[in-house]
Amino acid sequence: MQQANPASTPRDFLLSVEGLTVSFDGFKAVNDLSFYVDENEIRVIIGPNGAGKTTVLDLICGRTTATEGSIRFRDKELTRMREHEIVHAGVGRKFQNPSIYEDLTVFENLELSFPRGRGVFGALAFKRDKQVIDRVEEIAEMIFLRDQLKTEAAILSHGQKQWLEIGMLLIQSPELLMLDEPVAGMSVSERVKTAELLHQIIKDHSVIVIEHDMKFVQDIAHRVTVMHQGKVLSEGSMDHVQHDPKVIEVYLGH
Ligand code: ADP
Ligand code: MG
Repeated sequence: MQQANPASTPRDFLLSVEGLTVSFDGFKAVNDLSFYVDENEIRVIIGPNGAGKTTVLDLICGRTTATEGSIRFRDKELTRMREHEIVHAGVGRKFQNPSIYEDLTVFENLELSFPRGRGVFGALAFKRDKQVIDRVEEIAEMIFLRDQLKTEAAILSHGQKQWLEIGMLLIQSPELLMLDEPVAGMSVSERVKTAELLHQIIKDHSVIVIEHDMKFVQDIAHRVTVMHQGKVLSEGSMDHVQHDPKVIEVYLGH
């Protein structure tokens, strides 16, 4: 894998974040942040609470508007785009709490997320053709819910709900997936399966994950970006950042 090298041109990377800053009434939650993500990379962002991790995802997906800086995704400047345009450009975002339709089945949740079936009226007019069914089944297999297609989402375990929401993103075929604390509240075996799922996903996507569980980070990360007070404190392999004195100091200080 190519190493992050700010000297190379931005279009070498799938995502180039440069000088990104957001100020909330003078408080810079993200402060002159730069990082670069390759194709087929799993990047994990770690850092103490309040470091600005979730805000970075909010900025990339257009939920929050940057005060300064640039976010380039392929040839598109995301800081100038609306949230739905960013989704359309190929960036999918999963929030900390699953936003699935509890009273619909697993199948229906995935079907609704299929690009042509979006929205209630679209879904009504929408023929369940073979292409959709095949795609729903393919995604359900990946997210370990192949045998739960007829199950109402409400009765899935917390971990299964998290997988379903990942599936609802995957079915839209985004190039870049962003997951905020995907294994929070999961059992150990669910965490292992989620790591498997991510390894499967990056065969044809890139992923940015925010996570606290260091065992999970170790299992999945190609590179780790450590954030502190809105800035990059350290970056590199898990081994590198774990032994970085600056990182050790920040984590022991908390
Ligand atoms: P993390 O995800 O690393 O725990 P966040 O990105 O959620 O951190 O928050 C970083 C800091 O920015 C926190 O101090 C938080 O209170 C602040 N913050 C986040 N969003 C807003 C907002 N919309 N308005 C004001 N302050 C915010
Ligand atoms: Mg957060």
